[in-house]
Amino acid sequence: MLPQELIRRKRDGGTLGPEEIERFVQGLCDGSITDAQVAALAMAVFFRGMEPGECRHLTRAMTASGQRLDWTPWDLPGPIIDKHSTGGVGDKVSLVLAPLLAACGGIVPMIAGRGLGHTGGTIDKLEAIPGYDTALGVDAMGRVLREVGCAIVSQSEALAPADRRFYAIRDVTATVESIPLITASILSKKLAAGLQHLVIDLKVGNGAFASDLTMARALGRSLVDVATGAGLPTIACLTDMNEVLGTTAGNTLEVLEAIDLLSGVAQDERLRELTLVLAAELLTMSGLARDVTEARRRADAALRRGDALETFARMVRAMGGPGDLVDSPEQLARAPVVLDVHAEDEGYVHTIDTRALGIVVLELGGGRRTTTDVIDPRVGLDHVAGLGAKVGPTAAPLCRVHARTESDAQRALQAVRAAMRCGEAPTPGPLVLERITAP
Ligand code: URA
Repeated sequence: MLPQELIRRKRDGGTLGPEEIERFVQGLCDGSITDAQVAALAMAVFFRGMEPGECRHLTRAMTASGQRLDWTPWDLPGPIIDKHSTGGVGDKVSLVLAPLLAACGGIVPMIAGRGLGHTGGTIDKLEAIPGYDTALGVDAMGRVLREVGCAIVSQSEALAPADRRFYAIRDVTATVESIPLITASILSKKLAAGLQHLVIDLKVGNGAFASDLTMARALGRSLVDVATGAGLPTIACLTDMNEVLGTTAGNTLEVLEAIDLLSGVAQDERLRELTLVLAAELLTMSGLARDVTEARRRADAALRRGDALETFARMVRAMGGPGDLVDSPEQLARAPVVLDVHAEDEGYVHTIDTRALGIVVLELGGGRRTTTDVIDPRVGLDHVAGLGAKVGPTAAPLCRVHARTESDAQRALQAVRAAMRCGEAPTPGPLVLERITAP
């Protein structure tokens, strides 16, 4: 079975059979298919798409390319549940949601990613906490799950190795934005993590890679159908990403905002609402609550009572971080230069180029241009004004920049002003646009 014959068939709009897909995935793992051939097949799929059956086979083969976690021997005291976000700017929901679900009786083995491009990654945020070890092995993770109920770790080499190579090649060949390839990539990792229920937060808008609703709907449908067909009941929520989620973007600043939400010190309404919506979906699906109303009430109470905060503190301690982080969050290192960015005229924030704000954080040193870049967790934006906020030279700022140098801060100021257009207050749009369930 020559790789070039598979590429030729897909290039010409044909369908690949299960053995051919398995051969391709095997070639991804053992190197018998070259980078050029992998890229060519990815581009052929990008233009020609895949039949639902092909996407199912690709997902199955990529899941089977590595270790599949099995939590049964651990006898964990709750359903194994998780959330996956397709990525956005300021999305720190995982930091709050994982301990919140654990505080409500769920077990959350969350295998999270790093940021690349304009979006942040949960692992980078957690690595802003000194001592937090994101590279925990399966045994240590099982112990933390038993002790705390949640553990957020990075993807090990052993989990879905085919995706590791495939994604790296797609990333540099403009072939990421293909629905079947994204489906197989995300789900191979989630299926290998041994989950029982999954919610996908599918971001839609100018800060997400799904910028339009049509593409997001098709991706959501594909993810839900393939995951459910593979034995993992899944729901997708299409949620707005036309502004920063919460008021911060940048690793340390996002950890601080998550702690504020968990401790009730400051509450961004959209961030709190989205966290509760996703928590209610998972608690209901997994049978921890009778219905969404009860789930919502329990999640809300766990936040208000401080149960989720306490679980977060225990997770950080169990993962090697400081035992007193939630009592003294000021111990996290901060950037030396802090600058308020005011709008030049009075008005309301009318539109935000959210992706551009993500790039501001990256250029301050808070993100990566290539996978080997080292990031500075201290830099970023806080006090970010939302759509409809009143701003102006003497009113609230557009945001505050945290930078390593004065010149970095000045460059960020110009870029933020260009990204946030002011004028009339816009009509507020919904936070949750749609919900996609299995048929
Ligand atoms: N996230 C993934 O893990 N894979 C993709 O292909 C796209 C987003």
